[in-house]
Amino acid sequence: MKIPGELLERVVEHCLREVPYEACGVLSGPVDGSPDQHHPMANGLVGGRALLAFEFVPSDQLRLFTELDEAGRRPLVIYHSHTKGMAYPSIRDIANASLQVHSLHLIVATERFDPGAPLGLQNGAIRLFKIGRGVVTQEPIELVVTQWLTIEVQQ
Ligand SMILES: [Zn+2]
Repeated sequence: MKIPGELLERVVEHCLREVPYEACGVLSGPVDGSPDQHHPMANGLVGGRALLAFEFVPSDQLRLFTELDEAGRRPLVIYHSHTKGMAYPSIRDIANASLQVHSLHLIVATERFDPGAPLGLQNGAIRLFKIGRGVVTQEPIELVVTQWLTIEVQQ
């Protein structure tokens, strides 16, 4: 899936800001398109098991999904962070994701994130998955960079 670099940057910022709690949110976009909007969400479990899990606040989720639906948009990506361990869905993530089979699931492993390296080279710290009926498949992320880049060439 194509994801604008700027959008992924905001997702990572959100996830790092919430450490040690798991952050969560949605990237929305047009049907069959690429995500173009970031919706950070509150972790409904903060104060409870939120160090190791997340859940949208049901009323927030209903409001956002209704708004998107009315605008002809889709929650294309549902993201959350893992503040311990790998960017791989937990048993709980897989169970919850089966309710959202039309979205892809992005996981940011904050411990593995290297702030000194570019977003496109975060080996294993940012991963995208398709999760359906207990089957987890990793999906490629194609970063779309819209700003002009300055490339320094050493002579
Ligand atoms: Zn998780």
